[in-house]
Amino acid sequence: MKPRGPTLLAVPALIAKKRDGRALTDAELEAIISGAVRGTIPDYQLAALLMAIVWRGLGPRELVTWTQAMIDSGERMSWKALPGPTVDKHSTGGVGDKVSLCLAPLCAAAGLYVPMMAGRALGHTGGTLDKLETIPGFRTALEPAAFRRVLSQAGFVLAGQSARLAPADRLLYALRDATATVESIPLIASSILSKKIAEGAGALVMDVKVGSGAFLPARSRARTLARALIGLGGRLGLRVRAVLSDMDQPLGAAIGNAVEVREAIDVLRGEGPADLRALTVRLGAEMLVLGRRARDLRDGARRIERAIASGAGLERLLLGVRLQGGDPRVVEHPERLPRARRQQVIRAPRAGVVVRADAGALGRAATLLGAGRLRKEDPIAPGAALMLHAKVGGAVARGDALCTLHYDDPARAAAAAPLVARAFQVGARAPRPVPLVLETLGPVR
Ligand code: URA
Repeated sequence: MKPRGPTLLAVPALIAKKRDGRALTDAELEAIISGAVRGTIPDYQLAALLMAIVWRGLGPRELVTWTQAMIDSGERMSWKALPGPTVDKHSTGGVGDKVSLCLAPLCAAAGLYVPMMAGRALGHTGGTLDKLETIPGFRTALEPAAFRRVLSQAGFVLAGQSARLAPADRLLYALRDATATVESIPLIASSILSKKIAEGAGALVMDVKVGSGAFLPARSRARTLARALIGLGGRLGLRVRAVLSDMDQPLGAAIGNAVEVREAIDVLRGEGPADLRALTVRLGAEMLVLGRRARDLRDGARRIERAIASGAGLERLLLGVRLQGGDPRVVEHPERLPRARRQQVIRAPRAGVVVRADAGALGRAATLLGAGRLRKEDPIAPGAALMLHAKVGGAVARGDALCTLHYDDPARAAAAAPLVARAFQVGARAPRPVPLVLETLGPVR
């Protein structure tokens, strides 16, 4: 990135300016991002500035300049040579959210190109890369040439973030993670969109999760984030549509890595849990409409359903797995995926109806079992999992199985089991059903 603006920054004065609620100029914002990437602004000054932004926010002009500077900090990919539209989907992260694994091949089968750069599990939420790496041989670190080849041949690619795209985000995100400055709408919006715009997608569907397992649990905050993403995308030339979806209970029945790959394959076979299938179809329809491969959501949903029924989505997954070095036999025989050695069943303490299956608590329990990581360097246990046998609204008899823990290490199961038991609440009456898709925002086409 070219150094811009003043080369010798009076950084404390800029921190004070933001701390006191005043807007930074374009030159000041560009110089901060440039100084961060070149290493001329120390972490402690950046951390103080990030905290000032958490409290004071960034105005619309500041947010555009800040995000553009983050995009300009690295390379930008272009997919103009591809014969079809590129549309991506990004989720703010959830528990049991394996939608990307079935959605990307389905959208590819329906005529889109999906250049999906995914992340790893952190905290109570799962990560697509960790799930994919349970497929023997599957490579998530792809050089740009390989990324291009897989995308053009399979119509989708699921890989890790290249270090060359938006390096400012990598640096700032690590600092935010360590300084309690993640929870800021402008910082989240700029972080997500700088990567998506550098990745070169023509349009983006955002799945903004709401509820106990979401990163921003309150619906009002999720909606504010959705609006920020749509507005910022619009100003930077990226069409963004946002779907607010329920994450108060986990999506599907499987929480873990290998088990989630298995469940995504079930959806591609026309099976799998109804909520997972419904959200996949809905997000796929939104992507097809944004990419102008469907007239409207009904037409989009029909095309995704057809890609499931014909097996075209499953075939795309098979091709993608093969092209990324994975063992393609896993797609036809998911029982080849790793499994944990032991199981423990959590049972309903009374007869009634499940009124709560707390996604946040179940995500934390799965992390304790080894399905996720508390620190970036922690290893993942590929077979560690929770399998839900009951979801909210389901009737249970006393002693019925609510959830099975799959684990290798008994000490981990002992820590996770009470959390799982407390995550479920069985009551007398069924709660009012919560729709899976709460609302949608943004341009229709
Ligand atoms: N995901 C991101 O990529 N960035 C954030 O800041 C938060 C979630």
